[in-house]
Amino acid sequence: MVKIGVVAAQGAFSEHKDAFTKAFNETGVKGTIVLVKNKEDVAFVDGLVIPGGESTTISKFLHQSSTAQEITKHCVEENMPIMGTCAGCVILAKKIEDQEMKVKPLSLMNINVKRNAFGRQKESFEATVNVESFDKPYPAVFIRAPIISRVWGNCKPIAMFRDKIVGAQQDNLLALSFHPELTQDTRFHRMFLNLF
Ligand code: GLN
Repeated sequence: MVKIGVVAAQGAFSEHKDAFTKAFNETGVKGTIVLVKNKEDVAFVDGLVIPGGESTTISKFLHQSSTAQEITKHCVEENMPIMGTCAGCVILAKKIEDQEMKVKPLSLMNINVKRNAFGRQKESFEATVNVESFDKPYPAVFIRAPIISRVWGNCKPIAMFRDKIVGAQQDNLLALSFHPELTQDTRFHRMFLNLF
C-alpha cells in the first residue's frame, strides 16, 4: 500500500488525487492519497506531490509552516520520491532565474527554472511533448508555465517541447513544467508510481 501525499496549500491538488485514483486502477497498484496540510503530515507519506498553483503562495506556506524542512529531511535522508508539477517544478529547483527574491525553492533538484517563461501571449495552451520513455507524445497542458532552463549532474531532461526542457528526472524526483493531472493521460502518474 503506497501512501502519496499531495501538498494542499493552494492550487490543483484535488485533480492529482483523481489522476492517481485512475492510475491505481490502471496499474493495480494499491495506494491512497493524503492531503498534506502541515509538517506533521509529511512523516506519514511514502511519496509527495507538489502541485501547480502559485509558487509564491506554495513556497510561503512550505516555509512558514516548516513543512519545507520536513520535506527536505525525508527526501535527503529517506529518499522520498517527489513529483513537482508547474509551480511544484519551480519549488523543486535549485535556482529561479530573475525572480529569486519572490520564491524560495527547496533546492532539491539540479535544475534552474524560469517562471512564466512562455510570455503573455501564451499564458495557457495545450501541446504535445516528447518524452523519451513514452512511445507516443504526451498531450501537455501548460498554464503560465515555467521552463527548465538548465539541468546538470545526475539530473536528466525527460520531456521536451520543441527545443525547451519541460520535464526532468533526478533519481526518484520528477519535475514537470506542465499539468499532467489535467488530462486523462496518466502516464506521468504511473511513471511516478514506478519510482517507489
Ligand atoms: N506561474 C506560476 C508560478 O510560477 C505557476 C503556474 C502554475 O502552476 N500553473 O507560480
